[in-house]
Amino acid sequence: MKVYIDGKYYDEHKACVSVFDHGLLYGDGIFEGIRAYNGRIFKLKEHIDRLFCSAKAILLDLPLSHAEFMQATVAACRKNQIRDGYIRLVVTRGVGTLGLNPLKCKRPVVIIIAGKIQVYPPELYARGMDIITVPTTRNLHSALNPAIKSLNYLNNILAKIEANNSGVEEAVMLNAEGYVAEGTADNLFIVKGDALLTPPLAAGALYGITRQTVMELAGTAGLRVGEPNLTRYDLFNADECFLTGSGAEIMPVVKIDGRMIGNGKPGRWTRRLVADYRNLTNSTGEPI
Ligand code: PMP
Repeated sequence: MKVYIDGKYYDEHKACVSVFDHGLLYGDGIFEGIRAYNGRIFKLKEHIDRLFCSAKAILLDLPLSHAEFMQATVAACRKNQIRDGYIRLVVTRGVGTLGLNPLKCKRPVVIIIAGKIQVYPPELYARGMDIITVPTTRNLHSALNPAIKSLNYLNNILAKIEANNSGVEEAVMLNAEGYVAEGTADNLFIVKGDALLTPPLAAGALYGITRQTVMELAGTAGLRVGEPNLTRYDLFNADECFLTGSGAEIMPVVKIDGRMIGNGKPGRWTRRLVADYRNLTNSTGEPI
């Protein structure tokens, strides 16, 4: 694999950043996780749009234009002969001093890794996941806004550790008020009657690109789509539940905190949305 760093390609074992990079020292940077399917990069423009929003929120001057980021991402896929894969686009604050002042970082570092991903085993998609709510709450907007896709994922990692410690694959994170926010790296949806519901972004969810896509597909499929605050009670009494993310795609959830969801199998709307999502990913996107 050849990794792009600041306009040059390096063999994967020689692709290095400085130990003084503030991305490493402080998690000071932003990223995107993007999928390629069937020779096309899915929702590339939307991912680069979000990268620019994250950059603006943390006052990071991106060294490439929107068009240059799109071109560089396509080129990294070509270079690695990726037709189906996963692209990790990272921008760090760059090399600075041991102090945290970002003004000491003269130039951001851009990294593009075009490789493969299998977040969960295929059997899990067929069976559905058993998940739990965890004690670690999602970051407050007023502290570190969950809408910023920053390199600082310790909040999510702590939640994931709590899920691991309980012997389940994934955690539902609540916000400080006790409303459902999202999974550790995925948005969360429930189906109740003819409604597809997902927490509002203000509850502490990322502006998920898969989330947006699934909401559009659900509207076309005839579901009523809403974004109300959700409690654990709403999850327990849902007909169906699933998680969405570029990496995980659509993962059915069949148990939450020991309560079976619906009949304990991936629901019919979930399966319909998985099929519609698959059709869309295979037929649209930026050609590589
Ligand atoms: N929430 C978090 C915390 C994430 O890191 C991600 C991305 N993996 C998502 C939600 C899903 O976002 P997207 O659909 O844009 O990948």
